[in-house]
Amino acid sequence: MEADSMKTSSLLTVALYVAVFHAAISNAAEPLASTAPASAPPQIMRAGSQPSVVAPAAYFTGRVRIDPVWRANADINAAGNLVTFEPGARTHWHTHPKGQYLMVVSGVGLYQEWGKPIREIHPGDVVWCPPGVKHWHGATPTTAMTHLAVSGTTVNGENVEWMEKVSDEQYNAR
Ligand code: MN
Repeated sequence: MEADSMKTSSLLTVALYVAVFHAAISNAAEPLASTAPASAPPQIMRAGSQPSVVAPAAYFTGRVRIDPVWRANADINAAGNLVTFEPGARTHWHTHPKGQYLMVVSGVGLYQEWGKPIREIHPGDVVWCPPGVKHWHGATPTTAMTHLAVSGTTVNGENVEWMEKVSDEQYNAR
């Protein structure tokens, strides 16, 4: 009885250790410490310190560029990225385990949830994509669009689950 209890206890300790270790690893590349003493100088990530990235063709249609803004950390579990879609470009269908905010910065964009009509979105508009809701976002066929994407992140560092392409027929169904 007591031996079983101790075994359970040590298994829980191992599980906790693994969870904490994983969190430490996923935060290892953090540019900003999660806490800093009041006397420390401000931590500023300088413009140009994070290179632009071409969005992978495996998850996007058309020309898309990602400019990283900030990473998730232990205190604010949401990554920020500026995403720029050329005309006609869009994400594949996908979901976010912790949801996502999109704020349109420039151009004209499109947003659609599965089974619902395509919505046009404009600079200053903010879209909330709830956790687990299948959707896509992108530019219109004729105008580019940049949005700030703020994506909630799990303890395992995951913030998106990718699905199939948005077909031309789906994209043009407005
Ligand atoms: Mn999304």
